[in-house]
Amino acid sequence: MERVFEGKKVSKGIGEGRIFVFRRNEELIRRRTVYDTSLETRRFSDAVEKSKKDLLSVLDEARKVLGNTGEGIFSSHLMILKDPLFLDPVREMIENESVNCEFAIASVTDRMTGMFSSMKDEYMKARYSDIKDVAERVILNLSGKEKYDLKEDGPFIMVSDTVVPGDLMRLKDLGLAAIVARKGSVYSHTAILARTMGIPAVTGVDFSDDIDGLYAIVNGNVGTLIVDPGESTKTRYGREKEDLLSKEEKLLLLKGLPNITLDGKEIEIFSNANSLSDISNALNSDAGGIGLLRSEFLYLEKNDYPSEEELFINYRKAAEMMGSKPVIIRTLDIGADKNTSYFGLSGEDNPALGLRGIRFSLQHPETLRTQLRAIYRASNYGCISILYPMITSDFEIEEIKKLENSVKKELKDAGSPYSDDVKRGFMIETPAAAIMSDVFAADCDFFSIGTNDLTQYMMACDRNNDSVALWGDPKSPAVLRAIENVVKSAKKNNVKVSICGEAAEDISLTKSFIEMGVDSLSVGPSMILPLRQHIRGLTLS
Ligand code: PEP
Ligand code: MG
Repeated sequence: MERVFEGKKVSKGIGEGRIFVFRRNEELIRRRTVYDTSLETRRFSDAVEKSKKDLLSVLDEARKVLGNTGEGIFSSHLMILKDPLFLDPVREMIENESVNCEFAIASVTDRMTGMFSSMKDEYMKARYSDIKDVAERVILNLSGKEKYDLKEDGPFIMVSDTVVPGDLMRLKDLGLAAIVARKGSVYSHTAILARTMGIPAVTGVDFSDDIDGLYAIVNGNVGTLIVDPGESTKTRYGREKEDLLSKEEKLLLLKGLPNITLDGKEIEIFSNANSLSDISNALNSDAGGIGLLRSEFLYLEKNDYPSEEELFINYRKAAEMMGSKPVIIRTLDIGADKNTSYFGLSGEDNPALGLRGIRFSLQHPETLRTQLRAIYRASNYGCISILYPMITSDFEIEEIKKLENSVKKELKDAGSPYSDDVKRGFMIETPAAAIMSDVFAADCDFFSIGTNDLTQYMMACDRNNDSVALWGDPKSPAVLRAIENVVKSAKKNNVKVSICGEAAEDISLTKSFIEMGVDSLSVGPSMILPLRQHIRGLTLS
């Protein structure tokens, strides 16, 4: 009988096949006492080396099939296998507690993944599946067992508590039609991979084990798993699949066309990016540029501040990838829900109102100086602009200008080239900035309206608290009036204005934004072509 399980949509599309309920092999990781700990440590080292070799061939394959996204994910897995933060505690546990290495790996992994999964930031939370994936690979190499027990050929839906990136790579050629997970975030690498590979995916599904082996349909567009569908459901989905294909084909035809309304008003559509792989997705989707490079993610993935060289290499790559198209790099926006231990930011009672964004950078001028040096040096390789987050006060702007001048002088004195045309932008994401936008406009080339935070601060609603979601709506008249005010200030002062919060993706607002005079919208890579399609069907009032 047909049963429908509801979840959260992660990757669009419709997949169908037989259900394969996958249980991760728990019996491999029972605790055992070992008497020869040096032998056990050697077993661990051998399995790590074998896993590195496996990963090198996965990396090779991922590079071919998935380009930068695949390369990025599996290179980070290789890094975990070289990271003393992972290796040392396992060795120490084997030595100090005389336990088998499977158990030590599982314990250390649990500790590490617990740390990640308790983070408020969804992106960091999502990193836990990568560590789990790597640990599982090592444990499997220790056991020599086959990982998946697929009993039949043909398309199948993987259903599991968690799905890790390696599952997708290993199963993609064996008929993987969709994935369904009980746990996992929309921002996880598994989710990113599924989207890149076009595999429909749903998470947060509380499935029962008795569905194993049954035929099912996964609807990644709404987030459902339909087990044992009836004939009418099957026919409906067959039709929907065809429609979807033709819709996607139609979207691809829009590549290279302008974002222009029927009555001739053209605007830019840029892409938001959290990483270099997002930049290649943005290019594939024909983005006009990168409207918001959230530079904090490079910091949040690490255990210490990245060096100037490391930042420079990343920014230069971003600039080169985009060629003559603009890349707007936002300086470090940490604090509130984007936090990690080396920032030393714990203990604030009210972190969203605490030392975030530009406040943190100005309290740590050397951090901002390093970042600005890297950005200016990279500006020589493309079309880079700098965007400052969480601006509220004119003294911040004065400090920023001083620091920029001092960095430029330093670079000039050292003979290090940079572009003379690096534009300066301010994020408008606080009521203070919205109200003062006519004054702040004098000191910048562009505004970027961050509707996520602007809504949070205007409406006094924690953006991560679902129970106040009703109030935290960017469509609230107060927020829309603030946006209109900012656009007017921008126009009056000849300053460009963009919207880069999630509201830019909401097509019910697009017409109003264009009518207000917004110059560009910056959205996730997958929204670029659908937004273009919508704009090309609009007539302004
Ligand atoms: C915003 O606040 O709308 C924004 C784009 O910045 P972030 O979501 O990174 O805080
Ligand atoms: Mg913000």
